[in-house]
Amino acid sequence: MKIAEITIEKLKEQYFADNRPWVVTYSGGKDSTTVLHLVITMLLQLNKEGKDHKHVYVVSSDTTVEMPVIENYTNTRLNQITKYANESDLKISCHKLEPKVEESFWTLMLGKGYPAPTSSFRWCTERMKIDPATEFLKGLVTKHQSILMLLGVRSDESQARANSIESRVLNHRGLSVHDSIPNAYVLSPIKYWTNAEVWTYLGKNPFPWGDHTYMMSLYDKGSGEGDCNIALNPESPSCGKTRFGCWVCTVVETDRSMEGMLRNGEEWMTPLWEYREKIYAYRNDHEKRDTRRRNGQKGAGPFLMDTRKELVKLLLETEKKVNENYHTMKKGAPDYNPHEKVGLIKDEELELIQENWSKDGDISNTAYRIAQEYNRLVNKTVETELRSELEEMDEENFNIDLFERIYEIQSYRKNISNRYGILNDIEKRVVDFYKGEFRETN
Ligand code: SF4
Repeated sequence: MKIAEITIEKLKEQYFADNRPWVVTYSGGKDSTTVLHLVITMLLQLNKEGKDHKHVYVVSSDTTVEMPVIENYTNTRLNQITKYANESDLKISCHKLEPKVEESFWTLMLGKGYPAPTSSFRWCTERMKIDPATEFLKGLVTKHQSILMLLGVRSDESQARANSIESRVLNHRGLSVHDSIPNAYVLSPIKYWTNAEVWTYLGKNPFPWGDHTYMMSLYDKGSGEGDCNIALNPESPSCGKTRFGCWVCTVVETDRSMEGMLRNGEEWMTPLWEYREKIYAYRNDHEKRDTRRRNGQKGAGPFLMDTRKELVKLLLETEKKVNENYHTMKKGAPDYNPHEKVGLIKDEELELIQENWSKDGDISNTAYRIAQEYNRLVNKTVETELRSELEEMDEENFNIDLFERIYEIQSYRKNISNRYGILNDIEKRVVDFYKGEFRETN
């Protein structure tokens, strides 16, 4: 018997051993695709015999800052799986797990000023991947008492992976308990498959809705290691060191997978590369960050309001450019979609950014003003009561923009008990402001 047939038989044994619903974690990579493919093949066989009694959840993590080609590919696949499952009467549902909008990358970095993440301040993984997955999986456990998760991990990926897999305590059925979700069990059906066996299987067995050529081409274009599925897969490589991570990831010094993509036919994404380089540089530039942290301690704090404003504008400009690039550079390519619209930031995120800026002293609804330059949030009012009152004042030498800059310092410091250094900061802001004015008028 071939390895795939043996694995399917073993999956059937697990399927009939209890009533736990299955959760197949799907990243779009080769290993999770293999597991999903084996499960669907098994379900089709059981369906013919009327024996497919339990529900299978296919879950995929989406940070909302995934590389556009990967996001597009995963969305397409999930839609195809859903359509096929409905048509074939399979008990499968697909779920994309996204962070709450309050916890998204843009809300936190551009709204609250969190500096772009580093390995020592990696605030993103938990909020964007682990929390949404944990909430979803715990919800399933509450509903069904227990679940079985099927992971696409393999020993021959690396020695570290092999050690990690071997260190797991297995029960008599070969299941391990999930590290952090009570009553969730884990099965790794392809853990002893070799890399070659995975590729051979995928090469010879197209999905019912199409072959795996496009996924294989993504592997050729990208580089790095493994699938980025940390939240759903306790064995996955550490976040930020994965094949297809977030396009904004500044935990790595160089984004190798984006680099590979740009070299191999996806150069329309170059503005994304440039934006990531910018936030990487700004994170290390003290001029771009407050002199105090939000807890009042002296040291590099959040991105300054001016930095955040600049980065919001640049992000919307980047969004505009990648859309233009896509439709000019990709036109005629086999995977070109004339209806493609690459969205980098949602309207809800722009609204939350404004909400945070208003708390930090922005009296001009600047996020709305910037958004409207790009035809976003066009129904939002940009005038505020305070700004209108100040504009009506007839004071000689009163500069409303300078006032706003100083007011931002005061607003940021209002929750900090130790106001030491505030005068220096105001003085510096005034000097910088007039330097900027001077530059603009000369
Ligand atoms: S890939 Fe990078 S940016 Fe994305 S969650 Fe992981 S560490 Fe954060």
